[in-house]
Amino acid sequence: MKDKSEASSEFAKKKTLLEQRQYLPIFAVRQQLLNIIRDNSIVIVVGETGSGKTTQLTQYLHEDGYTSYGMVGCTQPRRVAAMSVAKRVSEELGSNLGEEVGYAIRFEDCTSEKTVIKYMTDGILLRESLRESDLDHYSAVIMDEAHERSLNTDVLFGLLREVVSRRSDLKLIVTSATMDSDKFAAFFGNVPIFHIPGRTFPVDILFSKTPQEDYVEAAVKQALQIHLSGMGGDILIFMPGQEDIEVTSDQIVERLEDLESAPPLTVLPIYSQLPSDLQAKIFQKAPDGVRKCIVATNIAETSLTVDGIMFVVDAGYCKLKVFNPRIGMDALQVYPISQANANQRAGRAGRTGPGQCYRLYTQSAFKNEMLTTTIPEIQRTNLANVVLLLKSLGVQDLLLFHFMDPPPEDNMLNSMYQLWILGALDNTGSLTPTGRLMVEFPLDPALSKMLIVSCDMGCKKFTLHTGHDQVREKFSVPESDHLTYLNVYLQWKNNNYSSIWCNEHFIHTKAMRKVREVRSQLKDIMVQQRMNLVSCGSDWDIIRKCICAAYFHQAAKLKGIGEYVNVRTGMPCHLHPTSSLFGMGYTPDYITYHELVMTTKEYMQCVTAVDGEWLAELGPMFYSVKQAGKSRMEEITNMEEEMSLAEQQLRSRREDQDRKSNV
Ligand code: ADP
Ligand code: MG
Repeated sequence: MKDKSEASSEFAKKKTLLEQRQYLPIFAVRQQLLNIIRDNSIVIVVGETGSGKTTQLTQYLHEDGYTSYGMVGCTQPRRVAAMSVAKRVSEELGSNLGEEVGYAIRFEDCTSEKTVIKYMTDGILLRESLRESDLDHYSAVIMDEAHERSLNTDVLFGLLREVVSRRSDLKLIVTSATMDSDKFAAFFGNVPIFHIPGRTFPVDILFSKTPQEDYVEAAVKQALQIHLSGMGGDILIFMPGQEDIEVTSDQIVERLEDLESAPPLTVLPIYSQLPSDLQAKIFQKAPDGVRKCIVATNIAETSLTVDGIMFVVDAGYCKLKVFNPRIGMDALQVYPISQANANQRAGRAGRTGPGQCYRLYTQSAFKNEMLTTTIPEIQRTNLANVVLLLKSLGVQDLLLFHFMDPPPEDNMLNSMYQLWILGALDNTGSLTPTGRLMVEFPLDPALSKMLIVSCDMGCKKFTLHTGHDQVREKFSVPESDHLTYLNVYLQWKNNNYSSIWCNEHFIHTKAMRKVREVRSQLKDIMVQQRMNLVSCGSDWDIIRKCICAAYFHQAAKLKGIGEYVNVRTGMPCHLHPTSSLFGMGYTPDYITYHELVMTTKEYMQCVTAVDGEWLAELGPMFYSVKQAGKSRMEEITNMEEEMSLAEQQLRSRREDQDRKSNV
């Protein structure tokens, strides 16, 4: 393999970090950029992936003196990007991560007094704006990857627009890799758009001739074919999620082992749950003569740029969180990507030289079946946390909030309804004390509710599932997956949090440490909020009841052997084979579940057995105990009434508004 990719990796090795910085397209326009930022409060910056927006803009602002009166913050829709970019920038600045340059993501704050450049997820900045509505700690905020249109970004858009109007010293820079820029500029009041001139090479696009039945198999074949063809350059494969990535990586390695005298290949997976030291590997140069093959989620589409990619293999799918009104919740599902995604993916092959992109779908599928751009998250997810957040920010009428693309009213109403059943909103739609407390927790409202009720019920043990399969049999608590995880945690604790113990039981030490960390952080929040922490001792029924208090709306009842139906909708749902309750011969009449996943069937994940009476007690808006005969649950329908009440209120408020705006 003697060609450009080797030349480019040689280049990276020889060049100092400073030279690498100066080679980026953004460097050529550094002064122009600083001028336009100086002259305007808000600027939209558009530039190809890899042009240096994420790593350089913060440093330019720092060099230009903005950090003398506040931090330069940069938000990312993905945790991985926030961490890895902060690490890179701290190296470029020659400081230790966490000092001048730091990052903050949920459950992890790697910043200090010294920090002047702070990378964070957009969720973190949202939470900060809750405590400090004018973001006084910041002199500039860069909202990076705005084209991703994550839910948090969209809410921040609405909030920051107001903050900038109140604070003339704050700079807001919105960056995007794509064409949405006109829309952004219009939203913020016709602000200027700055284009970073790109430096890209042509990419040959090769479509599948026929539709692929199995994209994993097709991708494995394609990668091997490229690898054995003798052409040089690294490969980047796009897969929808972790499972597919693991299978694809394993298959490639296995099949190569079967071949005699195949050239060496380093296969590197990357997805958000991968431990960060393994994630960092994708940026390391492979040894000379060894090709890299990165198998990634759409994290590598625009968030992370890996140099030296010449071949892209695009399976054509991604995972999206989509609110499913039928089951009343968000589900992460695999969907075809949009044309915009496809073009971004292809572009990854043309950064260091001409490249090739193998699309594992037909040209007609691209043209006729793919959307032009992905629907923004705000228009497809459960908005419960956003509703909570906006309510706590004092936004009374959510339908008047300035959204770039307002979420469908039905979703908004549904979220308010969910919050109402959890006791976070009262009948007038205002935040209750429970709701106010929920905002403090970086959790799904139902999980926050669980912690909150645990204080009233006298139990502060809480469980977080981390998903280890092998531990099931040994530690299984037949009534509950949640309790099984708790059992694992307590046994680990009894063994002095030992990593040897973990290894002996095939448990990931790292995952357990994370659980311990999250536990202590949640405990800190509870202490801060002066919540009453008491232990239930060995009475684990109380824990199940707390779980029931949070998840009664996701309850199922036994229908036949191993068969359950949703109590509210009658929809069949199944125990997942990894559940502690699966095949144990113990089949409780009622269970609640944490989440539904749809693969071949509708599976309930993380299940806990509950008493029928608890459901009636804790979820009176859904269930009552039938008086006659045995105590069987029966669904009641007063929810419809409540819904129409809330709807009426919203309608009349909107009419008021219309009237006002007509005046
Ligand atoms: P953009 O945000 O415009 O897509 P970036 O600022 O992320 O561009 O990337 C600029 C350069 O920095 C790229 O060449 C990329 O490979 C490099 N880079 C970014 N993060 C890292 C990292 N963690 N390790 C090594 N190189 C990195
Ligand atoms: Mg970037």
